[in-house]
Amino acid sequence: MRVKVTITCKNCGERFVLRGRRERGKLETGFKQCLCNNTKLFEIEEEPV
Ligand SMILES: [Zn+2]
Repeated sequence: MRVKVTITCKNCGERFVLRGRRERGKLETGFKQCLCNNTKLFEIEEEPV
């Protein structure tokens, strides 16, 4: 299932809009970290494409 993913960094507020996939309950986006090196604190919203 293809999804559009909006990731907001809770550390610096930067937003990233990505295309991802949801497979077996797991979200795959390839997203690793924010520009501020934050790797954990994100607000993630997804919607079907
Ligand atoms: Zn950040």
